[in-house]
Amino acid sequence: MQDENCIFCKIAAGEIPSATLYEDEDFRVILDLGPASKGHALILPKEHYRNLFDLDEEIAAKAMILAKKMICVMKEVLGCDGYNVVQNNEEVAGQTVFHFHMHLIPRYKDDNVGLEWNVGSLSDEDKEDILNKLREYRG
Ligand code: AMP
Ligand code: ZN
Repeated sequence: MQDENCIFCKIAAGEIPSATLYEDEDFRVILDLGPASKGHALILPKEHYRNLFDLDEEIAAKAMILAKKMICVMKEVLGCDGYNVVQNNEEVAGQTVFHFHMHLIPRYKDDNVGLEWNVGSLSDEDKEDILNKLREYRG
């Protein structure tokens, strides 16, 4: 299903032009218009899913396999030194376009791409709280 108000649905369907690196029946891979580094790409499923919370499991599996294939090829093409695969879910986590996508971000030595976070420490209280809640959880 597509969402008629979703720009990534239109891009994935080819209704809006994009710099397409790869396409198959399930996905289109495009260059991000606001790249974090040279070659930053997005994997877009052709079906509309808001994010990972409602992503079809078969598409999720295929997306990860495609991410692996893309970064292996693009590492050679771009001559980069590494890759971050990033995927944001909901506004609080940085999602700005509400159609599931995976960021493939090439990394170059000294590129200053800032994906760091402040490293905390796991307290005994948090650890016990989380493990207990999970034990009690009935999904
Ligand atoms: P996120 O913040 O994880 O939702 O990522 C959205 C990404 O989509 C950002 O990196 C934007 O630069 C990118 N973006 C937004 N609109 C377009 C577009 N029309 N074509 C390509 N990339 C886009
Ligand atoms: Zn969509």
